[in-house]
Amino acid sequence: MAKFTLGRTPQNDIVIDDPSISREHAFITLVSDQEILIEDRDSTYGTFINNREIKSGHSKPFDDLKFGRKEISAAEIFEHVRTITNLSRTDFNEEFKNLEIRFVEYDKQRNKLALTANQKSLQTRLIASVGAAAVVIVLTILLPKEYKVAMGGLSAVLVTVILMISANKNSDMQIKQKLTELQWDYETILACPKCQLPLVSRSYAHWKTKKRCPKCNALWVK
Ligand SMILES: [Zn+2]
Repeated sequence: MAKFTLGRTPQNDIVIDDPSISREHAFITLVSDQEILIEDRDSTYGTFINNREIKSGHSKPFDDLKFGRKEISAAEIFEHVRTITNLSRTDFNEEFKNLEIRFVEYDKQRNKLALTANQKSLQTRLIASVGAAAVVIVLTILLPKEYKVAMGGLSAVLVTVILMISANKNSDMQIKQKLTELQWDYETILACPKCQLPLVSRSYAHWKTKKRCPKCNALWVK
């Protein structure tokens, strides 16, 4: 279990520059992913978890913390501690392994979108064809004999082309938009567990062959 110091002066692991925070204010120990132990080091203005003053207490990421008069969410302290812990660590094999399932999820959702796009454009074509056929039939009935063939044919072609272009463009754009949004959603998930380098643009298999992060050199594959 890693233990860190929190205080006002730069030699602390977590530095908070606030006059109400003592030079050596508290110890922070990362107990688990979801729990820290906070120990007050006889600070002048005290340490609080959810507005209760503590000498020593456990905190979860959603607690409200106060060091002296400085309010800080526990989530922020967790983030700090994780960053510090990660800085000194190079082996991210376990975390990288866990990414595989997230890559699979992402691929599944992308394929689903592509499939929907295909079905939609098929539907559009069908509707356009039926519409065009209807126009041809109506014109054939209504127009005087001498125009029938020429006008009917021309109108049908025009209607079909317009319908197909507009409908397809719309659904293509919607799908593209959805794919982009999906990529945004996964940008922070499919990332190097150490430096957060986005990995979403390539496959898991591709990154696996690299064995190490090209940016921070963290070990991905042993
Ligand atoms: Zn990295």
